[in-house]
Parts: sequence; C-alpha cells; structure tokens
Amino acid sequence: MFRWVKSRAFFFALVLLVAAFMAWKGAYTWRDAFEFPWWGWGVAVLPALAGGGMLLCRRLGKALLPSSVCLWVVLLLSVVVDCSCNIFTYTAPWHLYLSVLMTMGCMLLLWAVLRAGAIAFWVLFLVLEIMQICGCMQYGSRINSLVVAETIEASWDDALAYMTPINLGMLALSFILSVLFCWGLKRTLRKQHSLTLFNAACLFGTASLAFGLLVPPHRQKIDFYWPVTEVPQLYNAASEALTINEATINQVESLTSPTAAPSQLHTLRGGEGVVLIVHVGESIRADRMSLNGYERDTTPWLRQQKHLINFPSCISAACDTCQAQIAMLTDARRDVHEKRPEMLPRTGSVLDLFAAHGFDMYTFFGRRCAQKLKYDRVVMVLSNRSRQKFNAPGSPWTAVPQMQAVLNQVAAGQNLLFFVNNEGSHTPFEHYDRQNTPFVPVATHFQNPAAQAQEVNNAYDSTIHYTDEFFRRVTEAVQHRPFVYIYVSDHGEYLGHDGMWGRAALGERHVSYHATTGCRVGMFVLYNEAFERLHPHFATALQQLRTNAALTVAHEHLFHTLLGLFKLQTPYYNETLDLTSPEVQPYSGPQPAL
Ligand SMILES: [Zn+2]
Repeated sequence: MFRWVKSRAFFFALVLLVAAFMAWKGAYTWRDAFEFPWWGWGVAVLPALAGGGMLLCRRLGKALLPSSVCLWVVLLLSVVVDCSCNIFTYTAPWHLYLSVLMTMGCMLLLWAVLRAGAIAFWVLFLVLEIMQICGCMQYGSRINSLVVAETIEASWDDALAYMTPINLGMLALSFILSVLFCWGLKRTLRKQHSLTLFNAACLFGTASLAFGLLVPPHRQKIDFYWPVTEVPQLYNAASEALTINEATINQVESLTSPTAAPSQLHTLRGGEGVVLIVHVGESIRADRMSLNGYERDTTPWLRQQKHLINFPSCISAACDTCQAQIAMLTDARRDVHEKRPEMLPRTGSVLDLFAAHGFDMYTFFGRRCAQKLKYDRVVMVLSNRSRQKFNAPGSPWTAVPQMQAVLNQVAAGQNLLFFVNNEGSHTPFEHYDRQNTPFVPVATHFQNPAAQAQEVNNAYDSTIHYTDEFFRRVTEAVQHRPFVYIYVSDHGEYLGHDGMWGRAALGERHVSYHATTGCRVGMFVLYNEAFERLHPHFATALQQLRTNAALTVAHEHLFHTLLGLFKLQTPYYNETLDLTSPEVQPYSGPQPAL
C-alpha cells in the first residue's frame, strides 16, 4: 500500500511541481525580456555533472540517487533551516522554494565532499546566520565589513554592552538548533555513497537555478540562492575588514616620527606652564551641538564661552575611528584607501613634536583596556611619547581628577600636553548623566533603534550634553594656567540620518561616507586670556583662526594648525593647511552637498 509514495519518482515529481507552481504563482510573464544572468550557466553545467556521476555510479554498482526516505528528511531539514536561518526568507518577494532547493543541494554536496567534516561548517554557519538575523532585527544591520571592523575594534567593555539576555539566549538557542540539525543530517546521510549524494546535489542545484531563471530579469537577485551566496558574502566581509585593519596598523607603524627631522619651537622657551589639550572626540555630529544651531541645548556651556572659536563645517576623513585618528594626528590628508601620494602621510604623530619641545605629555583614554586590539594599537602608536597613560573607569569624567593630580604633581612652569581620547558619544550612548539626564526617556542599547527613535536620540543628545560638562570640568581644572583646548570629533553617527541607524549601516547600504551628513563633525578651539597674552604670535594666530572658522575645514588641517598656532617649524609643515595662517585653503575633498 502507498508504495508509490516511497518512490523517488514521486518525491521528485512532487517537489518539482510545487516549485513550478510557486514560480508560476509569481505571475511572471514571458513578455519580460529574457536576460541570462551569469549564474544561469549552472543549469547547463550541473545536469552534465549529475549525468557523469550517474554513469560512474552505474559502473561502480552504486545507487544513482539517495533513497526516498533520505530525500524527504533532507527536504524537511532544508525547510526548517531556511525558515529559521535564512534572512531572505522574510524579505519580499518571497522565494523560499529557490533557497530550499539550493539548501538541499548544498547539504548533499558538502556531505559528499567532507562527509562528517561538514558538521563543523554547518554548526558555525547556522549559528552565524541566526545571530545575523537576531542582530539585523535589533540593530538594523547585516554582517558586513564595517560590522566586522567594529567587532574587531570593540573593547571588552563595548562587547559587554551587546551581551544582553536576548543575544546570549539566541546564541545558545542557535547552537542547540544547529547541533540538532547536524545530528539529523548525520543520521540521514552517513550510509549514502558520496557519488550518490553528489548526483542529487547537482539535480537540486539545477532545479533551484532553473526556476530562478523564470524570475523576470529586473527582479533577479543572487540572494535567492542562499546559502551558496552567503558564504562568499561573509568571507568578503571578514577579509575586507581584516585587510583594512592590517593596512591601517601598517600605515601608522610604518611612519617615522616627525622628530627625526630638525624642528624648532619659536613661541615658547619652557617654564611658561602652558597646557595644550588635544581632544580627539568620538562620534559627535556637528549638527547635534546647540553650538551649531541644534534646537536642543546639548552644549549649554560651550556656546556661552567668549574665548571659543567654533568650526561649524568640519569634514571627517573616515567613518572608522583609527583611520580618522591617523588623518587628524599625522599629516595624512585622507583615509587608508587613498592612493594619491600627496594625500598620504609622510610622517607620524604631531604630538611627538610637542613632547620633543618640552611639553610633558599625558594621555587620558576612556575605560578601554584591551590594548592588543586594533583600536588601541593605532592610538597607542600616535600617543607613544606620553609620560603616563590613564584610563577612565566608569565614566570619561573620571579623567578630570586624574588631570588634577598631574597638575598638582608637576612644577607650575612645566608645559603640558594633555591628549584626550575617550568614548564620548560612541554607540550604544551610555555615557550621560544618570542622575540628571537632560533628555528623557533614553534607550542605551541601540536595539531596534528605528522603533524607539526618540529614546535613542535622547540618549545620543544626552551624551553630547555630558561631554559639554566634561569640557567645562577640564577647563576649570586648567584655568589657572595659560591653556588652549582643541577638540575634533573622529566621525559622526547616524540616528535615522540619511536613512540609516549606526555607522555599520553604511556598508549595508553601499553608501559613500562622504555623501552623507555623518561626515560633518564637531570641532572647536577654546583658550584663555593668559594663553592669548603669553606671546604676540598666539594673539595673531587666534585672530586668524577666528577669521578662518567660517571655512569648510577637515581633519587634514589639524596637524598643520597645531604647528602654526605654536610656530613650531618643521619640514612637514604646510601653510595652506594651517588654519592660523591667512594662506590656508579650505577643504576641497569629498563632502556631501549642502
Ligand atoms: Zn570613533
């Protein structure tokens, strides 16, 4: 009874009929111009391979195709895997029948080639895919090179922010699911001959591609053929991130310090007690500072300062922290992708020069500690002349008492360089005043940001307000000395701007950073009268800086402006990039249209 149900012919007839029905139901008309995508050649190659395999099977006396029970189980596993792990199952237009056929082909092929070794692949792959869906739903981005890069540069503390009960639960669940899947796969396929599996794999692959060709050309997407297309995608994301990561580290490590060339400081002799603060900020968009007209008062203290020179139009060099740091502190003019020799860095950190000319340098980082990571390697090289490096556990504000301690400990006439680089407004926007949060309610986990846009925006604005208070506290600590405080943010952030949430979305949307509003960052110079009066050059330079504040400036200006402000002479100085000079040229590189 029902012996025909158990036949392979019934299986193939049913599966192909259902798939054909799905394709037909998509209402594709033959009037659509038929265009043959490159992957369409698979429908010629795969059946030929299957035919060859079958001939060989006949000669070896093996079954041409796996048993029908085996095929039904593979179909069932494939449907379960596609419904739970394939991100495209949920995105219109629905093409589950194509990916199910392709998944069956992949399962059989991998087992035919790797046998039980395929288990390692499937466990890793399925866990990654489920976590990708989980991440995509919460944070709005798939795994791309920017996500991988951010993961590489995340400190342990950053990573902890993502270890939520949901994420940890999903990780455990995905692991259990993939182990169960592999157990089923092993039980089903272990007794089948590799060649038999190979034949069936080729047939399922052919069916998937053939039905896919019925989709009209303008709706064709290679993503229909998950999981085949997902593997190179993940590989490219990882390799691109690692290549850029390595190139960035190599770039900064290959630079010779500017102190290797002769240099001269014309304004200070030592003993003036000047404090120069260079603050490489984090993720502050210019348009979110009330200083630049934002309707919310995110920078209440800054905007009241008389001795403030604000640069409302500053373009950041890269959406990546490390590349931006190199563009700011060395004479590099663009990011690590730049090929034009005149835009490449010729020398290392400008901070080295100040350290060489009598400034005792102290560095104030945020709370990160894992210093072997890329994020830390680059900034460590750029600030390696520091006498001491501090971390600020808990909050960036912790740096203020540390600065105070340094000020108390060194001689009153000692010139100081404070290099500041902390978390600022980095996602997930955790650093704000918990007691008196200025903008409420806040959401600080960056999960599903679009659904709680107001809360996420409140958190972001509150971090800027918090940094404004940091500026106030630092300034208060150094105000009894002549000081100048230069702040530039490394890159912006996306909170629904340009249709995106988070910087990783740039990779998702294949948008150029400089085509978006996220590359306009906060920048200002703050000083006191004691500094201005200290040397006639300072007064002139600050005056000129104020005149140039209306120009479109960029990270490329910082290196030369620091040299120009102090009249620090070195062969690397370029007057056309010095904002304290009347000869300065505005930034003319890539930038978004106004
Ligand atoms: Zn950054």
